[in-house]
Amino acid sequence: MKLNQLERLLERLEGFSQPSPALEQYRTPAPLAARLLFHAAMRGDVEGRRVCDLGCGTGVLAIGAALLGAREVVAIEIDPPVLAIARRNADQADVDIQLIEADVKNPQIHTIAGACDTVVMNPPFGAQQIHADRPFLDAALAIAPVVYGIFNTGSRSFISSYLAGRGEIDEVIGGLLPIRRTFSFHRDEVREIPVEIIRLRKSGAS
Ligand code: SAH
Repeated sequence: MKLNQLERLLERLEGFSQPSPALEQYRTPAPLAARLLFHAAMRGDVEGRRVCDLGCGTGVLAIGAALLGAREVVAIEIDPPVLAIARRNADQADVDIQLIEADVKNPQIHTIAGACDTVVMNPPFGAQQIHADRPFLDAALAIAPVVYGIFNTGSRSFISSYLAGRGEIDEVIGGLLPIRRTFSFHRDEVREIPVEIIRLRKSGAS
């Protein structure tokens, strides 16, 4: 599948119907999701792999991983109505993904998800709840040796020091996250936030 084909398929998926600001429910735009997934696929982290999407929301990353040939995809999300959207989206895209309702903060999250080769995630940036991204980093490294995440530009030094001794950043790709006015506190119609797609490797993993 070509990058623009994947983008078009992801573009068609249903978005959040009543996004929760506290949970930072922003849909990952199709071009950004496709870019992350294509890059991960190029590095051999998707095809034939067991992939986990943490905080899957509408399921964009999980569904894209399945379309790119992941052997198995498991998607974790805390909010049940959102899981129903992800289910409809997976059916529409005609892919088989395992959707699980769970909190990434659950200390058993690695057992709930099962061991994976790769985690993909667009976690909350911590704009509403400070440090909301930390449990995602912890869970991701508990589940898989390789992690791709979308973060605010400038998070790099925080991530490196937070993960010291547990994981390291081995690649960073710049991108833009267009955020449409979703919540009443948003002033602009669309605001483009510079983001980074970061590949993390568990310390000691190849
Ligand atoms: N890739 C998703 C973007 C999701 S936004 C998409 O395009 O739809 C972040 C998601 O993380 C939200 O769906 C939110 O409900 C979920 N989330 C936030 N905190 C969580 C937690 N503690 N455990 C599991 N999911 C959580």
